[in-house]
Amino acid sequence: MQTAWEIAKQTLTLLTPRLKLSVSENADHHRVLSTEASSEPGRWRTSRTPYLKEIMDCFSDPSVEEVDFMSSTQVGKTSCLENVILYYILEAPCPILVAQPTVDMAETFSRDRIAKMLRDCPSLSDIVSIKTRDSQNTLLHKSFVGGNLNIIGANSPSSVSSRSCKVILIDEEDRMSTSGSEGDSSRLIIRRANNFPDRKIGRFSTPGNEGKSKIAEAFKRSDKRYYNVPCPHCRMPQILYWTNIKWDEDSPQHAWYECPNCKGIIRNTHKTEMLRDGVWIPTAKFTNRAGFHIWEAYSPWRTFGDIVVNFLECKDNPESFKTWVNTSLGEPYEEVTGKELDYAKLQARAEPYKILTVPKGGLILTAGVDVQHDRLALVIRAWGRDEKSWLIYYQELWGDIFTKEPWEQLDTFLDMEFDHHSGAKLKIRRMAIDSGDGNSKNEVYNYCRNNARRGVIPIKGSSTKNKPIVSRPSTQDFDYKGRSFPQSIRLYLVGSDTATATIYGRLGLEREDQRGYYHFPIGIADQYYSELTSEKFVTEIAKNGITKEYWRVLPKRRNEVLDCEKYNLAAAYTIGINLKAWDWDKEEARINKSLESE
Ligand SMILES: [Zn+2]
Repeated sequence: MQTAWEIAKQTLTLLTPRLKLSVSENADHHRVLSTEASSEPGRWRTSRTPYLKEIMDCFSDPSVEEVDFMSSTQVGKTSCLENVILYYILEAPCPILVAQPTVDMAETFSRDRIAKMLRDCPSLSDIVSIKTRDSQNTLLHKSFVGGNLNIIGANSPSSVSSRSCKVILIDEEDRMSTSGSEGDSSRLIIRRANNFPDRKIGRFSTPGNEGKSKIAEAFKRSDKRYYNVPCPHCRMPQILYWTNIKWDEDSPQHAWYECPNCKGIIRNTHKTEMLRDGVWIPTAKFTNRAGFHIWEAYSPWRTFGDIVVNFLECKDNPESFKTWVNTSLGEPYEEVTGKELDYAKLQARAEPYKILTVPKGGLILTAGVDVQHDRLALVIRAWGRDEKSWLIYYQELWGDIFTKEPWEQLDTFLDMEFDHHSGAKLKIRRMAIDSGDGNSKNEVYNYCRNNARRGVIPIKGSSTKNKPIVSRPSTQDFDYKGRSFPQSIRLYLVGSDTATATIYGRLGLEREDQRGYYHFPIGIADQYYSELTSEKFVTEIAKNGITKEYWRVLPKRRNEVLDCEKYNLAAAYTIGINLKAWDWDKEEARINKSLESE
């Protein structure tokens, strides 16, 4: 029990007017991190994790009703939640509710985190008693002047629906069970703040699966803020993305971050300065919900190398990979659903014809080539009547594209005579090479100039919606008077979304007598199927009510094969196989004639 003197002292403290502190200022003044709960015990410094400042301060900002914080682990999420609790005890006392996924977790949280915080923050120790046997205080209920702190487990229906609270903080919402009689527990919990017009809701969670992730849903309805940090070399402000983390195969622990603008190498040692100069930038309209996303790359406790090493350990096991996406990238993992193509299903229908040979029905060969800085991806396809087609070969041709190495390998395929099932030989009629990347464009043009007579053309994907599969080519080489040369490069544009929609529509066909059916031989690498099915058609409704539909590459999936297939389709169309006047009988006769002449 508190003595009359203690109560009087507390009341006096509360009555004395003073400047209100924000959540982060309050934490800098009063928070002491406990030895048991922190890798860096001692005084809290917001400057250590500057990205947490704005998140915390939203709780002392009257214009914000809900804060949705979606993150990876290792970014200081729990400390942030505790600082919010500390603020409400010291600065704005009221009834507070903290919901954990289970009663067990609620008890652990109280014992390991709250009790230690109460013990180690001097300003708190006179206000809230640590003793759990005190009538005012139990493990899951603590009272203090002006308010109380209730910690509940979402799996206990009675605690979910009891008394009302002004501040509701939900921790690890995506780990709360949604099955059974409890139903949507977080919704029931939030309802408990309905009586308070100035209520505050805080959701702090690592996401689970897309579609089921509550935090991802909440984040989508918020103003979606991302932390933009300046490149230490060119100063360009940017959001850090996983795809820009680079490493050498033999030393992943020394991974670095590559600035997409200046290609400068960003090391772990640059992080402190970058975080200090970072700003949160919203990407949607603010109503009253502030949303924040941050992941391990920003964490002062995780190096780029740690992230990569962890990725390499998880990448080959679907379950651990899913966990990696959630806990390291802080993103919901997208399960493959019916709207996407099932790659195992495609793989299962592979047919017993030999790789590098053209089966019955295939009459013309095309090749699609995607260009990366260290390799070419090559897909060769045969086409026949009704635009039916057969995969003939898939391979990555390794080598720096500024050297001869990959191009000489490509020559081999241009020279190659493929066995046709009739016994005749077929060569590649048209090869389309991607020249969309500015860095490699010139190398691609050179190769196309040298091999124009062998049917090699440069091609470029266009992201403009509803473009035809191939558009009229544009001339690229000019003399000093602006005149083109007879041998000038002609660049073809591929309508990317149209090509994807066409290919995906055809891959979905179930019977091989249908127009446009795609065939595959047995023995093609898994990677081919995985990359072929790497896009998904998404429908999004924007805040302004306009529906947006587009093809999107699934997270963490490479899509070079799909690009190669788009170029193959375009290559076949530049020959004219889609035209009504196209004469397949003539093609067949030609092959037969070549047989006779042998
Ligand atoms: Zn830069």
